Amino acid sequence: MTSAEEIWSLLREQVSPRGTETIGLSAACGRTLREAACTAEDMPPFDRSAVDGLVVAAAEGSEIFTVVGEIRAGQANLPVLAKGNAYRIGTGAPVPHGGEVIMLEDAKADGDRVSFLRRGANHIRRRGEDARAGEMVVPAGVVLGDGQIALLASVGWVRPLVTRRIAAQHIATGNEIVDPAEIPGPGQIRDANSALVLAWAQQHGIACAQARLGEDAEALRDRLSPDADLLLISGGASVGRHDYTEAVLREAGFEIPVTKVNARPGKPLIIGRRGEQWVFGLPGNPLSHFVCLHVFVDAAVSAMNGAAPSPVLLSSHVTDPIPGNPRVTWWPAKAESKGLRPLRWASSGDLTALASADALVRVPVSGLAEGARAEFIRTR
Ligand code: AMP
Ligand code: MG
Repeated sequence: MTSAEEIWSLLREQVSPRGTETIGLSAACGRTLREAACTAEDMPPFDRSAVDGLVVAAAEGSEIFTVVGEIRAGQANLPVLAKGNAYRIGTGAPVPHGGEVIMLEDAKADGDRVSFLRRGANHIRRRGEDARAGEMVVPAGVVLGDGQIALLASVGWVRPLVTRRIAAQHIATGNEIVDPAEIPGPGQIRDANSALVLAWAQQHGIACAQARLGEDAEALRDRLSPDADLLLISGGASVGRHDYTEAVLREAGFEIPVTKVNARPGKPLIIGRRGEQWVFGLPGNPLSHFVCLHVFVDAAVSAMNGAAPSPVLLSSHVTDPIPGNPRVTWWPAKAESKGLRPLRWASSGDLTALASADALVRVPVSGLAEGARAEFIRTR
């Protein structure tokens, strides 16, 4: 049985990053940046008022000023600040040379006359105080989310170089599974894995083609597209009479470094490789799928994307005890302010925990006592 650590190192060392493309910012969410993004200009590019207030010459010690005009955000021509003059100034408006900005709350106005309760705070965001021209703002390897995209927009980095979309082929096997829109007949169950895999792929920006097959080794062989970066096969991974995934993969030229992992649920996980292409034979139960996708397949996807290694192991306390097991368990949980709340989980076929799961707690063989510190990964 291979440990999680062994699988993570195998994938981190052997899965190679895929090619790149340039895309627009509107399509960049969830994609991995493959270049360091820099700012060409100082940020902010000019001294800006941080408040709505008044601006006067900083060197000017008069008691009373006359308000002679206004400086608004976006204004290009700025007045020269003369003795005894004040200008109203808006948040974000450029500050004239030598100006001091006093917030409205510190000013007392009487018609166009103004005096100040307090001077010297100088509410100015200085040119270049966030970043200097030429400085890096987002390093390569970051998966772009809303915050990074806003930052790239602010420095005009509008055509980021990112990893091309990873192509996956998912094949759900089993004579018992039917489309979720159907009413299952006797002995049949709805195919939950195809929906799970597609949603997981969408979260990773993966282009995922899908097929649903009966228990048919021949049909499975035909679907092992040589063009996919990632092949995912649901079901048929264990050692039953009808579990032919491993044999089919070997015949198709895959090396299979892993056939069993020390993980519960999810033990009969098959990991294989054919050149640059990787295959995961996932045990059919949907909860095993959920665990294997988040704990193991994620690691391959990060490596393909040239992103920071995943999964990231975090640490927190569990709010309730979790029983141990001869295998290391990844227990569905909800991350809450008071800690990780383990969710009820009857078997690896039981999906009800997924209603609120956003974490998987790594439970050592000895189990976890109430309040014990545990490692976990976020699934969302
Ligand atoms: P297998 O790995 O094919 O032996 O399947 C293990 C268990 O997972 C069996 O109870 C299957 O019925 C169930 N299973 C397999 N595929 C799916 C699927 N796509 N959706 C829901 N359950 C499945
Ligand atoms: Mg099956």
